[in-house]
Amino acid sequence: MSRPTQAVIDLAALRQNYALAQQLAPDSRNIPVIKANAYGHGAVAVARALEPEAPAFVVTCWEEALELRAAGIRLPMLVLGGIYHRDELPLAVEHNLWPMLENEGQIDILINAKMEKPIPLWLKVDTGMHRLGVAPEQAAALYRKLQASPNAAPGIVLATHFASADDLNNDLTRRQIQRLRDIARTLGAPTSLANSPALLAWRESLGDWNRPGYMLYGNSPFPHAHELGDRLIPVMSLQSEVVSLRTVAAGEAVGYGESWRATVASRIATIPVGYGDGYPRNAPSGTPVLVNGQRATLAGRVSMDLISVDVTGLGNIAIGSPVELWGKNLSVNEVAAAAGTIGYELLTRVPLRVPRVYQG
Ligand SMILES: *Cc1c(COP(=O)(O)O)cnc(C)c1O
Repeated sequence: MSRPTQAVIDLAALRQNYALAQQLAPDSRNIPVIKANAYGHGAVAVARALEPEAPAFVVTCWEEALELRAAGIRLPMLVLGGIYHRDELPLAVEHNLWPMLENEGQIDILINAKMEKPIPLWLKVDTGMHRLGVAPEQAAALYRKLQASPNAAPGIVLATHFASADDLNNDLTRRQIQRLRDIARTLGAPTSLANSPALLAWRESLGDWNRPGYMLYGNSPFPHAHELGDRLIPVMSLQSEVVSLRTVAAGEAVGYGESWRATVASRIATIPVGYGDGYPRNAPSGTPVLVNGQRATLAGRVSMDLISVDVTGLGNIAIGSPVELWGKNLSVNEVAAAAGTIGYELLTRVPLRVPRVYQG
């Protein structure tokens, strides 16, 4: 009937990870980041699961926000990309969307607009990542300029984003926190700094608002062991089944380009998942795959729809044996590391072809 490849999404685990964020930052409002289709998990389902506890959501762009509104999600939403065009401002009023302003052009659009009522605003300061945000030296003046506008609701949040919060002893993170706090203190402004690694590891970064994303989906944002990071429960399990099995003689190769060659007679299991399902094509032979709960290894190139796995010597492998590409028993971080990327990318790139099956 249907292809056995699916992303099982454990909403109970999602709620538990969010509860951990709330427990670690009880004096902050912790806004779940659900951009990029909730890191591939399905933004509408994730929003519905967290809506009873969350104060608001974070998305990247107006398109994402409006899709959630169309699905009936009611909480306010912070739009990280801010304003691209003044036509967007009526949408902000109508849909209770909060733009994060990051340059003077956006600030001028806001100030010069004719608006029905003021909207909540965030002002992003570039404290050292040098990607988005106003310069720290200009932040206070721009903040006051916004404050004076009848289009701005009171309590404009002063925000920044960390470049290296996953590095536990990073001096830039310390300087970024200091820079934002100095400006916020002179202005008496509410603050927002922390992403997932900061929420877990940099207590001094906690603000009036935090913006956890990756941790909610249950994987550690750290490249090394971390007590709290390792307590998270993976939400997505990318699963499939063995659909074909064969023995390949020593000297024979498997897959496109014959990049893997059997040194002994080998048992090869074929799994219907490939780069067309978000499994990374650059995962090399040897990347772990769980087959019937046992660690096997990728053999040969990842195809669009299929991978081959060396299951030589493993017990109880048959057509229909369950396969986990990543999830609770095999960390997406480990698979990502083998493929030279990060778990964030693998989760985000699972395409719509893979059905999401919600549990919990
Ligand atoms: C994506 C993003 C976050 C969330 O980061 P995680 O590491 O996933 O927690 C927070 N703030 C901003 C500005 C972001 O772009």
